[in-house]
Amino acid sequence: MKVISIVVPVYNEQDNIEVFYQEVCKYMETLPYIFELLFVDDGSSDSTIAIIDRLAQQDKRVRGLVLARNFGHQIALTCGLDFAEGDAVITMDGDMQHPPEMLPQLISSWEQGYEVVQTVRVNTEGVSLFKKVTSGMFYKVMNAMSNVQVAEGGSDFRLLDKKVVTSFRSFKEQARFIRGIISAIGYRQAQIEFVAPKRYAGTSKFSLKKMVQFAVDGITSYSKLPLRIAFYLGLLFGSFSFALMLHVLYIKIFTADAIPGWATTSASILMLGGLQLVGLGIIGEYIGRIFEEVKRRPLYWLRDDLNGSSQEVVRMPGVPGK
Ligand code: UDP
Ligand code: MG
Repeated sequence: MKVISIVVPVYNEQDNIEVFYQEVCKYMETLPYIFELLFVDDGSSDSTIAIIDRLAQQDKRVRGLVLARNFGHQIALTCGLDFAEGDAVITMDGDMQHPPEMLPQLISSWEQGYEVVQTVRVNTEGVSLFKKVTSGMFYKVMNAMSNVQVAEGGSDFRLLDKKVVTSFRSFKEQARFIRGIISAIGYRQAQIEFVAPKRYAGTSKFSLKKMVQFAVDGITSYSKLPLRIAFYLGLLFGSFSFALMLHVLYIKIFTADAIPGWATTSASILMLGGLQLVGLGIIGEYIGRIFEEVKRRPLYWLRDDLNGSSQEVVRMPGVPGK
């Protein structure tokens, strides 16, 4: 029988995990596969870990990878993908916004031969207008700026074939935007649309700061256009000021009416200064990224591996495809 891993990054989700587990169990029990359910705890400070531990003790299919601190959603997902041993790996959120009812659909697309089954949110219930507008803007800017196309409403709810997971593991960058990687990774990809319901309990773990960071990571990891924009702006204003300089010299040398132009001078200094700072900022952002990458630090480290023995289930002797 084929093995399917479900990877769930969780960060302070004490009121969701149990319900999520019950819901997913319905499918783990009825679908004809061996399942492993990998919770990746991303540095929770509530009783999330205790709940995972209890589930792991009751149920051999459950394993808890406990990260040493909060590393962020994308890294937590990466950790899960590193440890997952299934022939297919499904990643989903633990707050019920990625409906477990869709599991059979994801798996049947995989069985039809698709190696990446990507879900796309057509709508999210109960999301603020601000988040809708900024998220829409982000995808437009992202797709316009880079040659990687990420579906608007693309989510981290997807199924990956084992082959794709193996390829994914060779991507070593620190600042990662998994949607971009998956979109660029190739293979046969299918898309399934869904409406994301409201969170079951608790509040979103994505602060404005985390969202901005995520957006900047997405754009800078797949596009050099911001650097080029700074260069083109420099070119434009450089030639403009060269023309202006010729004009100033002409007035100074050939005419008698060289009046002190305080307003134009200070205005252009301010504008050019501002532009230079923007250019420097963009360059700084990329240099910062180079700095982070060359350190080659580990992406994450684990504090605990609850029920690591669940591997026994996966490594059952005689399981085909292992
Ligand atoms: N999450 C995580 N680390 C973080 C932030 C979030 O592991 O630093 C988890 C969170 O517990 C949830 C999933 O990632 O299972 C998606 O987060 P959330 O629901 O807060 O995001 P939203 O749905 O609001 O975009
Ligand atoms: Mg959510």
